Amino acid sequence: MKFDNYNIYEGIKKSIAKLDYKKPTDIQYKAIPNILKGEDVLAIAQTGTGKTAAFAIPILHILQMKKIKDRPDGVKCLVMAPTHELAQQINEVFKSLGKHTRVTSFCVHGGVERAEQVEHLNQGIDVLIATPGRLADLVKRRQLDLHRVEILVLDEADHMLDLGFIGDMQHLMRFLPKRRQTLFFSATINETIKDLAFSLVHNAIRIQISPKDPVAKNIQHGVSFVEMDDKRFFLENVIKTNIDKKILVFVRTKVRAERVKKAMERCELVTDTIHSDKLQAERESTMKSFRSGDLKVLIATDVSARGIDIPGVELVINYDLPNTAENYVHRVGRTGRGSQKGQAVSFCSKEEKELLEEIEQNLGKPIKILELSKSDYQQVIDLSEEVSTDWKSLIKEHELSKKGKKRKKK
Ligand code: AMP
Repeated sequence: MKFDNYNIYEGIKKSIAKLDYKKPTDIQYKAIPNILKGEDVLAIAQTGTGKTAAFAIPILHILQMKKIKDRPDGVKCLVMAPTHELAQQINEVFKSLGKHTRVTSFCVHGGVERAEQVEHLNQGIDVLIATPGRLADLVKRRQLDLHRVEILVLDEADHMLDLGFIGDMQHLMRFLPKRRQTLFFSATINETIKDLAFSLVHNAIRIQISPKDPVAKNIQHGVSFVEMDDKRFFLENVIKTNIDKKILVFVRTKVRAERVKKAMERCELVTDTIHSDKLQAERESTMKSFRSGDLKVLIATDVSARGIDIPGVELVINYDLPNTAENYVHRVGRTGRGSQKGQAVSFCSKEEKELLEEIEQNLGKPIKILELSKSDYQQVIDLSEEVSTDWKSLIKEHELSKKGKKRKKK
């Protein structure tokens, strides 16, 4: 399928070509024809899937094709988005795709002088992109009339709910015409989102796009090939080279969690564990000190760490590979929360290569290999405190035995 095959205004096709979009993405392929037909859409799609153009292209076409006399003043399409950045980004997409149309777009959000925005709105805007807070404010002050809106888009509806915009959103619905086309986009789905969606759309076309890369873009993640018996040396190395960082280490079982802790103790590294064998009070106090940063390295099992949100984890180590891709995404997602950057490294032994393949297959792409030369690998082992302690004790033992032999000879 090519954009050329769509029955859309030539000026928009020209901009699509200029942006170098070769063919529609999955969501565009599924959404554009339905939006053009005037259908309501309920789509589960993440950022990065091309969802903005999926609604901007058909909306621009619909508005462009309206006859001049059918173009009364006032906003004809309203797009609600959770944040300033997203609202601006959407406006940019409308501007670049609508460059050769007579459709106008504008973006309003908090933190900007209201008067300036009102002046702009009075010039007549076709597509208004707004955050719910500022929008509700403008409507309340009667500085914005929404009764001409024909198309309503809710983008990242789940995020808007998370940010507590539900009240503003419901309030705003009262000012919108009942007869309209509604396009509802959310990255995730749960009961609350479903309730909200179904209260807004009618006989909607449902579209679900599985994300191309479920690991967030701000997380750098890679895999190192490390043999099972050498993993402790590599963990010691990682901790020592990232001494100030908050590190979350995942292991497969609680027994292994305790073993890894002991191994780190032998190198004089302080860590703690969290797993189901620990008392609730112990777990809470461990989590408290990890949250505050007093404890720098926490060793956890999958179950114990599910759903916990710890601020500022800079590094996740998969000491053992998780057994499902879902757990992989969940584990590495403990770092790089929000807009922070995060790093994740997995130690993969010979025995775990099959698991790695499965995870990669489910992720839809390979995990970056962190190459280690033979000599670098050996150096990590040689530099281990545990190994050097062993060497020291061996040398000591050897010297003592030599002295003993000398004494006997005397
Ligand atoms: P979005 O999911 O809307 O945030 O879009 C993600 C990125 O995909 C943006 O940088 C778009 O410019 C780009 N994009 C959208 N549609 C296409 C397409 N058909 N071909 C290539 N890139 C696209």
